[in-house]
Amino acid sequence: MSTTYNFCAGPAMLPTAVMQQAQAEFLDWHGLGCSVMEISHRSKEFIAVAEQAEQDLRTLLNVPKDYAVLFGHGGGRGQFSAVPLNLAQQHESAAFLTSGSWSAGAYQEAQKYLNAIELVTSSSVNGQVTVPHLSLDKEQQQRFAYLHYCANETVEGVEINCLPEAGSVPLVADMSSNILSKNIDVSKFGVIYAGAQKNIGPSGLAVVLVNNDLLDKGRDSTPSFLNYQNMAKNGSMYNTPPTYAWYLAGLVFRWLLNSGGVAAIEQQNQQKANLLYQCIDQSDFYRNHVHPDFRSRMNVVFHLPNPDLDSLFLAEAEKNGLRALKGHRIVGGMRASIYNAMPLIGVATLTEFMQEFARKHG
Ligand SMILES: *Cc1c(COP(=O)(O)O)cnc(C)c1O
Repeated sequence: MSTTYNFCAGPAMLPTAVMQQAQAEFLDWHGLGCSVMEISHRSKEFIAVAEQAEQDLRTLLNVPKDYAVLFGHGGGRGQFSAVPLNLAQQHESAAFLTSGSWSAGAYQEAQKYLNAIELVTSSSVNGQVTVPHLSLDKEQQQRFAYLHYCANETVEGVEINCLPEAGSVPLVADMSSNILSKNIDVSKFGVIYAGAQKNIGPSGLAVVLVNNDLLDKGRDSTPSFLNYQNMAKNGSMYNTPPTYAWYLAGLVFRWLLNSGGVAAIEQQNQQKANLLYQCIDQSDFYRNHVHPDFRSRMNVVFHLPNPDLDSLFLAEAEKNGLRALKGHRIVGGMRASIYNAMPLIGVATLTEFMQEFARKHG
């Protein structure tokens, strides 16, 4: 098998070492004679897997003791519904910062469940996407049950590094595509959630960190399997959790810890992103339309000078073992998703290919 680098935005590549370990113990997990997929979620063996994963995640993100860590169903979008249903009543208002497709999706879904107000939205200034800084004033802090934003817009390649200032209002972040990519101060957030399939594990799983003070804000009508308090009370086992995804997430957390933790991967992520953005900026061929302050370190979007070249670029990339570079249909062009699992050599191989392609077609 020749080397393939998979730049898919999600479900994304997982660390090779993790896939190898999962393969090695696929049929016989820890001498049980069966897969970890085939045992009860209530068995002492699986509970040990689940607790270790939670503990490792707490260590990696330095999660304060007064936060619940939940492993649930429904991915990122499941939380678009779960957040309003858990944090506010129907008559209440919540504030939204929209910086791209995913935060707009969360805003739209929340409108079904409460009074959702869009306060700030990204815009294009001199051909570059920027996101205005948001700071809630006193009156707004009285009015809103929470403030929602998306820390990394996977589609547009827009990342917000400077936190919105919510004051006394709980800050809620969709970190589906950048959780564990860099150090964060969890105590600044009311809720952090992530669909797993970008930086954690297989799709379907949702990881939620929630401040215990918010656990009693949900509605009586909130579906029990999405109810944070109910999930916390039951150790995320009110219904059968996605056990295999949880196990794989645990292997990824272990891999991260063994690779030096979040600080080490953050450094590597910065290196990878620098390499790719430099390649784009130093050419007259490729273009990126995001203001440097908001460029995503996880999803690097770029355009060729002429969209007619896109299919040739993709075909040649594929021949060189560089797969899934096609941009999202909303944005067009190319997108290289370079999550934690993508090694530096994968990005270096991509930039060499890009330079070569630009020389031939520029
Ligand atoms: C992928 C993604 C989602 C949606 O996740 P699903 O598991 O498909 O529901 C939500 N938000 C962000 C930022 C994403 O990247």
